[in-house]
Amino acid sequence: MRRKLAAGNWKMNGTSADLEQIEALAEAHAGALSEIMIATPDTLLHRASAFTKTGPITLGAQNCHHRESGAHTGDVSAEMLIDAGASYVILGHSERRADHDEHDEDVRSKARAALKAGLRVIICMGEELEEREADNTLDIIGGQLAGSIPDDVSGETLVIAYEPIWAIGTGKVPSIAQISEVHDFIRLRLEQRFGPQIARGIRLLYGGSVKPANAAEIFAVQNVDGALVGGASLKSADFGPIIEALD
Ligand code: PEP
Repeated sequence: MRRKLAAGNWKMNGTSADLEQIEALAEAHAGALSEIMIATPDTLLHRASAFTKTGPITLGAQNCHHRESGAHTGDVSAEMLIDAGASYVILGHSERRADHDEHDEDVRSKARAALKAGLRVIICMGEELEEREADNTLDIIGGQLAGSIPDDVSGETLVIAYEPIWAIGTGKVPSIAQISEVHDFIRLRLEQRFGPQIARGIRLLYGGSVKPANAAEIFAVQNVDGALVGGASLKSADFGPIIEALD
């Protein structure tokens, strides 16, 4: 049985004043059945970890370097993130692919480094609007799956987030049938590559304009094991109802 996961991606938002949002979530959802993960900016990880010692909340980062250490000014290694309090790292988010020219092979080598250090990875993938309109979505997802996921993964260590790029931060959401088609396709490809036992343990998140108002409908889709949430994860008043819809 896969444990549901509500993952928040704070992106480049949040200073110490916002730690109260994590404190409020930790208090309100102490008994949550689902796992709650918040990927804060790296600068907040250490202080945020004060609220995650007990209860369902875990912390994550939004990127890591593919090397363990060395002359890489401004970069952060997986080991440093663990030291600061992270147990997950989001990799391959479309904003990193676009802003930092990250390709599948970069995502794969970062994932290898993260797994080796002991982080769990949430690997993001999704199509552009033009790709969806040209009916190329499954080809794009198939390529990203093959290219960005390393071989040595398990249900414990890998989470995949399907995030159509045109749905991120736009208020647009694919139809339930479209979400279902992609999630079923990902599960099938995972079964073909890793075998049914490992594939069945890997959690598949949907991401892209998930809000309290649409969460329950999305979570009812078979093969949707939770969500990766951007804007609506910043305030506990918005993220809380999403967590409740998942529980
Ligand atoms: C995201 O950036 O991963 C995301 C899903 O953002 P939003 O929920 O704001 O669309």
